[in-house]
Amino acid sequence: KPDFAEKLAIKLGAASTPPVVHALDGVDLQVRRGEVVGLVGESGCGKSTLGRIIAGMLPPTEGEVYVEGAERSQLRGQAARHARLNTQIIFQDPMSSLNPRKRVVDIVGEAPVAHGLIRRGEKQAYVENLLQTVGLDPSMADRYPHQFSGGQRQRIGIARALAVKPEFLICDESIAALDISIQAQVINLFMDLRRQLDLTYLFISHDLSVVNHIADRVVIMYLGRIVEEGSADQIFDGPNHPYTAALLSEVPRIDRRHRTFQTIKGEIPSPMNPPPGCHFHPRCPFAFDRCRAERPALRTLADGRRSACHLNDLDQRPNFSVTEQAR
Ligand code: SF4
Ligand code: MG
Repeated sequence: KPDFAEKLAIKLGAASTPPVVHALDGVDLQVRRGEVVGLVGESGCGKSTLGRIIAGMLPPTEGEVYVEGAERSQLRGQAARHARLNTQIIFQDPMSSLNPRKRVVDIVGEAPVAHGLIRRGEKQAYVENLLQTVGLDPSMADRYPHQFSGGQRQRIGIARALAVKPEFLICDESIAALDISIQAQVINLFMDLRRQLDLTYLFISHDLSVVNHIADRVVIMYLGRIVEEGSADQIFDGPNHPYTAALLSEVPRIDRRHRTFQTIKGEIPSPMNPPPGCHFHPRCPFAFDRCRAERPALRTLADGRRSACHLNDLDQRPNFSVTEQAR
């Protein structure tokens, strides 16, 4: 609904401070309540940095993050705590984030007790209930992380995130480390949880096929900038930006027509020293003079999507509707 549009909006300049700094440049992104937004790009495009900034783990050097209409850095006390707990981030490697010396009941139950959401005496039952919610046997609450499989550990990580009753989950490559068969199960879990708990998601992945089944809206990043954003149907059925089209060509599809745009050629340039003009021009099969000199602005097109490509200013756009081009 449009009136939810300002619930969570961010407007950013450059990202700050190590460990991994990928400069973000003029990124402007909204996540609406109840949406699943897929954030996709190759490694080094800044998507994880953006996720951390949205989660409040990393302050932007420039720009603002708005949470339900309020700028995050201005929040104090109870409101700041609520904003922090309300957004939880789930990372790729569940093992590295689970303390091997603690039992699951303590790993999952620690934060809700510390934040006064439950009393200590309620912890066991609370955690057992959460384990059930994420599809684990509640009797496993007293076990240690090493006694679980990779997929089960990711479920523990999800239970831990849910324990503080967030409304917004940021999944940063949350299934990338899992076996393919397990990936589908965990994605299904995320979608079940969405329905059960009214969750909002930002789903960060290097792999467009991962967000294919779940995202309502897709945001494509390249070297610190958003290059295209649209509904999942718009992005998957008719990409506007050549980079999106190239990414799509690497997504396995049952429909053969979509299989062959062309594989993206060339190396990803350094995010610290991006090419001038359109950052994608050294790899773009459609690049022309203007692309090397002038940065394309991210503009809203007639169909409501946003795209940053000079081709949109040409009278006749080359047709790369992913169907014929590569034949
Ligand atoms: Fe390719 Fe030019 Fe469009 Fe960049 S602006 S994606 S180089 S056609
Ligand atoms: Mg990353």
